[in-house]
Amino acid sequence: MKNAFGMSGRPIMADPPSTMEDKDDEPPGCSTTQTLPAPAFPTPPPKQGGLVVKFPIYRTNGYHPAARKFRKRFFPNIPSKLWNDWQWQVSHRIRTAAELEAMLQLTEAERQALSLNAAKLPLGITPYYMSLISPDDPHQPLRRTVVPTAHEFYRAAGEADDPLGEEGQSPLPGLVHRYPDRVLLLLQDFCSTYCRYCTRSRVVGHGKIIPSRNRLEKALAYIEETKTVRDVLLSGGDPLVQGDDRLEWILSRLRRIPHVEIVRIGTKVPAVLPQRITPKFVKMLKKYHPLWMSLHFTHPDECTPEAYRACGMLADAGIPLGSQTVLLKGINDSVEVMKSLMHHLLKMRVRPYYLYQCDPITGSSHFRTPVEKGLEIIRGLRGFTSGYAVPTYVVDAPGGGGKIPLTTNYVLGREDNDLLLTNYENGRYRYPDGPCNQEN
Ligand code: SF4
Repeated sequence: MKNAFGMSGRPIMADPPSTMEDKDDEPPGCSTTQTLPAPAFPTPPPKQGGLVVKFPIYRTNGYHPAARKFRKRFFPNIPSKLWNDWQWQVSHRIRTAAELEAMLQLTEAERQALSLNAAKLPLGITPYYMSLISPDDPHQPLRRTVVPTAHEFYRAAGEADDPLGEEGQSPLPGLVHRYPDRVLLLLQDFCSTYCRYCTRSRVVGHGKIIPSRNRLEKALAYIEETKTVRDVLLSGGDPLVQGDDRLEWILSRLRRIPHVEIVRIGTKVPAVLPQRITPKFVKMLKKYHPLWMSLHFTHPDECTPEAYRACGMLADAGIPLGSQTVLLKGINDSVEVMKSLMHHLLKMRVRPYYLYQCDPITGSSHFRTPVEKGLEIIRGLRGFTSGYAVPTYVVDAPGGGGKIPLTTNYVLGREDNDLLLTNYENGRYRYPDGPCNQEN
């Protein structure tokens, strides 16, 4: 089958990305970050959310119009059956500069990044996600999240490859034990689409964390022996970009451990590869309740009919869905964009959970905002929309201190027995906070 590049289509992987014993198929990355001068590209204000947000998008069964158009142009001979096959999407990811160049008008900064063979992260974008990317606007939010630029090679003060100190809190490769009652198990370092601001870009896509049975058996033994662990978070890479059987194997093994009360999965699949969520897959997941999911959404443009459908299927399977959003400069750092995203999430039955201050990973200065920007966004949400639409804004403390909530102080002080409070409109209130009369 010919594709847009005049080449034969890559073979469809039967069960991407690897076997339990095989290495990831990504090209090796380079752990050494080259330091280039900081490119001076102005960051325009973020756009208002929504590529095409026609109400009520969440009741449609169709495709995003941009996906239709893109497919017609670049994969004209691909039938819907293949386009909707997640394995086809994974095996036809855009992974080279030439493929990207055929689809986008690249800027100098993008070209420069692609020519440097030392990217922190490999390039990887599913055709579906690529269809949502503007071919001619380098400032389009989704494009900025997945297309590398020269900014990635600039190391600003305070940045580090492992700012959260995960390596120092890993008793075994791919297992992070920071809090007493829960562990983070990295199943693999493969993702269908790589986010340029990824906190784990030091390992993700580099073939460093392989889903080998041997490694996972050791991690399971550690969890089994550590009786305080009641919560296991599966992450990566993206845990959902592997075959049903492999994920079922790990879920069933975890379920056999009596002290593991809940299992959580962190994934960006509903945003970048919604085709992965199939009836057969959710039927399998349902067997392993209580199972929770943290979904990674960044911008309202990701809330397509396809994403709505994927989240709806997961919610129908009884999986509580929460969202994790990273605050990103020029991408979602305005009250309007964030509110639009949070509203979409609620309609998708996803509870906004965390808004993360972007971690100071190496090469992230073009993505990071001051903390005051995050507080301003939370102030712009609290009271102005449903409480369910307001996530908890957190900074993950550099060095491994864990998540620290950041919030505006609504307590102004005390006067005698009164607590002095302010509300979202800057009104002043008193709450009688003296000793209660228990005799009545
Ligand atoms: S999906 Fe998650 S793990 Fe993968 S690149 Fe994005 S942020 Fe990193």
